[in-house]
Parts: sequence; C-alpha cells; structure tokens
Amino acid sequence: MTAPGTGRRIAVLTSGGDAPGMNAAIRATTLIGRAAGAEVYGVERGYRGLVDGAFVPLGAADVQGILREGGTILGSARCKEFHERAVRDRARAQLAEVMEVTDANWRGVGIIPNSGFALRPAYAAHDARLRFPSYDNEARKRRGEMPPGCDCARVVLGKIYPNECILYGRACTPRHPIGPCMVSDEGACRIWWVSGVRSPLAEGTTA
Ligand code: SF4
Repeated sequence: MTAPGTGRRIAVLTSGGDAPGMNAAIRATTLIGRAAGAEVYGVERGYRGLVDGAFVPLGAADVQGILREGGTILGSARCKEFHERAVRDRARAQLAEVMEVTDANWRGVGIIPNSGFALRPAYAAHDARLRFPSYDNEARKRRGEMPPGCDCARVVLGKIYPNECILYGRACTPRHPIGPCMVSDEGACRIWWVSGVRSPLAEGTTA
C-alpha cells in the first residue's frame, strides 16, 4: 500500500512580521506532512526565499523543541521588489488566480467578513479543509479557541490592557503562559511583563 502523501512535496513559509504560532505551524506541517509520506521543505526568509529559491528540507529533528521559541525558525524578510507597483500587481494577479476572498474565523475574535483567503474551487484537490473533513468538527474548533479565562482577544483588539485580564501575573506569566499573548516575545501580555508591569490591574484603578 502506498502512503497518501507519497510522491508529494510540501513547502511551508512564514511571511510578514514574526507572530505567535508560526513555529507551531511549521512543526505541524512538517510532522503531519512527513507522517503522510510527503517530502517537506521550509522556505527561508518568507517571500524573499521564494524569489531566491531558499528551500531547505525539514524533518522531525529540525522542528524538535521549537514550540516555545518565539518568531519563526525559517525567518521572515521584506522583499524589496514589492516596492515596485508592477511586481505587486503581478503578485496580486497570481494570488487572485488561486485564492478568493472569504469570511474567516479569527481565534477568540469570531468571524470577520471578507478577512481571509480560501483556495478557488478549481484547486479543491489541494484544499486541506476539503481533504480532511475533521477540520469542521465542532470539538476541534473549540480546541482552537482561547483557553478558559484568557482575555487575549480583547487585549489584541485594544479593548483592555493586558493587566486587566484576571489571570495576568496570577496564573499567567511567561514561565507559565496560559494564552498566546503571553507565549511569544511579540505577545502584548509578554511585552508588558518584560517591560516591568508585574501585577494585575487593581480593581477600581485605571491602567
Ligand atoms: S494574561 Fe495570559 S491569560 Fe490573560 S490575556 Fe494575557 S495571555 Fe491571556
């Protein structure tokens, strides 16, 4: 019997600014891709690496222990060709050929109309959401929500300051992070903590 991914090659890249969860995405792509029999490659330095052909093979050892590291092990970079209008137009046209704008569900925030991309029907054979129906499973979706008590969504939306979260500095610290905002170096709660704000906002005061 042939494994379902045999003969396939998957590449993963991280673009834009470093963000929490990038290493988790790289690790999941690598481990699941290889378990399915595919060859997995990382593209270094985001779109810059696509232009330069910076593909590196990824295996289990390459992604071991990266979950707790901030940012992305593949790096991200600005691509100065994108300063040129013609290059941006070409990229936009290529994107539009493969992807269409769709409503997207943002963790902890909910569905925002026209805020995401999905593969066009012509590319359905490559759409993981269609190939793996458990993607829509309710229990799985709940696992993608914020941990109980974590107010990260309101922090990210600027509705509260990090130390207005009831868990800040009590149950949630960089050594024992509960939500994504405390996990990575770029997380709002982590930044406040590192900047010296070590206690939750006392009731009746303002930040
Ligand atoms: S302090 Fe921790 S639990 Fe509270 S919002 Fe920030 S990450 Fe979430």
